[in-house]
Amino acid sequence: MTRSSSDRPRRDWRPATQLVHGGTARSELGEMAEAMFLTQGFVYETAEAAEARFKGEAPGFIYSRFSNPTVAMFEERMRLLEGAGAARATASGMAAVLAALMCQLAAGDHVVAHRAMFSSCDYIVTELLPRFGVTSTLVDGTRIENWQAAMTPQTKVLFLETPTNPTLEIVDIAAVAEIAHAGGARLVVDNVFATPIFQKPLALGADVVIYSATKHIDGQGRCLGGVVLSDEAFVADHLHNFLRQTGPAMSPFNAWVLLKGLETLELRVERQARTAARIADRLAGHGKVSRVIYPGRADHPQAGIIARQMSGGSTLVTFEVADKAAAFRLSNALEIIKISNNLGDAKSILAHPATTTHQRLKPELRAEFGITEGMLRLSVGLEDADDLVEDLEIALEVV
Ligand SMILES: *Cc1c(COP(=O)(O)O)cnc(C)c1O
Repeated sequence: MTRSSSDRPRRDWRPATQLVHGGTARSELGEMAEAMFLTQGFVYETAEAAEARFKGEAPGFIYSRFSNPTVAMFEERMRLLEGAGAARATASGMAAVLAALMCQLAAGDHVVAHRAMFSSCDYIVTELLPRFGVTSTLVDGTRIENWQAAMTPQTKVLFLETPTNPTLEIVDIAAVAEIAHAGGARLVVDNVFATPIFQKPLALGADVVIYSATKHIDGQGRCLGGVVLSDEAFVADHLHNFLRQTGPAMSPFNAWVLLKGLETLELRVERQARTAARIADRLAGHGKVSRVIYPGRADHPQAGIIARQMSGGSTLVTFEVADKAAAFRLSNALEIIKISNNLGDAKSILAHPATTTHQRLKPELRAEFGITEGMLRLSVGLEDADDLVEDLEIALEVV
């Protein structure tokens, strides 16, 4: 691998430029598109060279569980986009969450988390970590005083997602970061719903950011991936060795797909959010829709925080019809919008959280989280906005 001087940004490139060129490291062949290095390992010229590389005295790759040239390009492009000190890719978003938490926690530590979490994150915090002596407290994180009240001398990590799934509630990242730091803890933010285009948790005071690259970063429903971003010290002291020794590595093939996804990330997310805003406005004026939740609308209950911490709305719209039967009738009547559970895809996708992503929750807990039987979560794709509006309006007629 060589890195010509033009590969190294001498100026601070703006995000759209980083998304296309950031992190590119060309081989001596000078290929235009990023090369895919489907290799488990690397050959050393001499025994001495192998020794030096293993000792960390010479640069270079050793083994793809540790690092791989294609994966390294993806990590560097993500690092530049996020404005982080260091980035590490993982096999999936959940591998990123698990690594970000496990690498810094030990028996006796305590975690405080916003109660509305992606269900696998909830499993890690409330079921898995306690088996290893890490206790947790779940709070309604939209009320800042609840974070403070849950802090103990053992609290090491505060964890949250914002906007949340599926009710698109907002948590004030800067305020929670302040509480975390005052208590000697770190704030970890799952930034999947906001995307790196609309929200920069590190700039707001968070210590670690994670993504499921499966969502908007691929954006075309092809492969799984994840990434953890933080400062160099956190990666060097905690994450690096954890990933190297436990092995949730991203495949070079997936890294290549995701690098190509990043090239169009901003275009896609901005177009999806524009269409989502339009759909939200149309649904809000529809007689059969009782409620619309959209972070870009003035009637979002937390519009003030959104204006402070997000630079765009969302590619998702959540809305409510009368009940489960109405939600199912609407879902089944759609022609373009697919019934599925991914999000951030080029294809528009509708999910009924109460019977799919959140069916594991007890009904009382679903009610407490505001997830009703008539609630639907729409991930807006890249189709023509008018076609999507028509698809929904025609389907709403049968509700
Ligand atoms: C999808 C998702 C994850 C998990 O990502 P995978 O790539 O499916 O493992 C974690 N958090 C949020 C908010 C997600 O939407």
